[in-house]
Amino acid sequence: MPVIPGVGKSTLLNAINKELNLKTGNISEKWGKGKHTTTFATMLQIMENSFIIDTPGIKEFMLLQVEPEEVSGYFKDIKQYAEGCQFNNCLHQNEPNCAVKEAVENTKIAATRYENYLNIIQNIKDINYWERK
Ligand SMILES: [Zn+2]
Repeated sequence: MPVIPGVGKSTLLNAINKELNLKTGNISEKWGKGKHTTTFATMLQIMENSFIIDTPGIKEFMLLQVEPEEVSGYFKDIKQYAEGCQFNNCLHQNEPNCAVKEAVENTKIAATRYENYLNIIQNIKDINYWERK
């Protein structure tokens, strides 16, 4: 399968300093999405007085201020159906009479979009769980 280079943090750092030779992921043309290949935080010296801390999962960091019930507001296609849900705090997961799940079943919302939505909800729940422990 042909691959194109990823555009993750490790790829950018390798471009700054080739000697770092960090492991990077490839984005398959078929799926068009990369994988997180950085699995633990590392501090790298890129120049004499310059250090970079590389941490996994930059996407998750951007979501810290968002609550699970706010996520659907960022998905235009999901938001337009959410108004039809029985509960106004519906997370569109297992709630009864959920208009979003119905729209996914009727392919009015792309299954991949719904999967992304559910992944983000789960990520936020995981982060909140560890933060509040
Ligand atoms: Zn719903």
